Amino acid sequence: METSLVAAEAFKGINENSPAEQIIAWSMERFGDRNMVMTSSFGMEGCALIDMYARHGRPLTVVYLDTMFFFPETYALRDRLAERYPHLEFVNRGTDLTPEEQARTYGDQLWKRDPDQCCKLRKVDPMHAAMRGVDVWITALRRSQSISRAGIRVVDWDWQYQLIKLCPLAAWERQEVWDYIKKNDVPYNELHEKGYPTVGCTHCTAPVEGVQIGEYSRSGRWKEFNKTECGLHGDGI
Ligand code: SF4
Repeated sequence: METSLVAAEAFKGINENSPAEQIIAWSMERFGDRNMVMTSSFGMEGCALIDMYARHGRPLTVVYLDTMFFFPETYALRDRLAERYPHLEFVNRGTDLTPEEQARTYGDQLWKRDPDQCCKLRKVDPMHAAMRGVDVWITALRRSQSISRAGIRVVDWDWQYQLIKLCPLAAWERQEVWDYIKKNDVPYNELHEKGYPTVGCTHCTAPVEGVQIGEYSRSGRWKEFNKTECGLHGDGI
């Protein structure tokens, strides 16, 4: 693809202030003939976005990266989503490196010593492999999730993966996501009801005291480290 041409063309038809539903409908028309995939870690935002795309009744691939350290509740959620939306394809593009192989090569409990290296092995490297050949990448990032996410755009050219990146929920607040989930009976991770605002790997996710289900916080992630992102999105995200 000719990157600058595609990036310029990609913005035609919507703008940063367009409603999410309009962005989603536009993206299906605009990129329907492209290799377009959504990635999800089955967070609350991802569940809402999966539902919003599913409503169009068209096939869509939802890629997830099974780190082999998911909570049982996350695997159960994946199964509920696949059952609810049979026309979507949920594809695991996670690492082949088993926890045992990782321990043999990099030492025991790498996440306690070098979580960046662990995330690289179990998330970032598989993500690069998963994005090969993809033209359009849909994610459920929101600007208000963190300072590092404040600059994300609805449509952008992603230099890291060399593709168009869509963030239809960029302008949404957490409460809007939760309201959408409740209103539309969208499946979500039961752990949100047990004090987990976000859910990642078992080793690196803890509940956050005092955070309500409609509030967002990443303070339960990598609690022992100065780290809040796994690095999938580049630019510190
Ligand atoms: S979140 Fe933790 S366990 Fe999961 S890949 Fe990153 S460091 Fe490893």
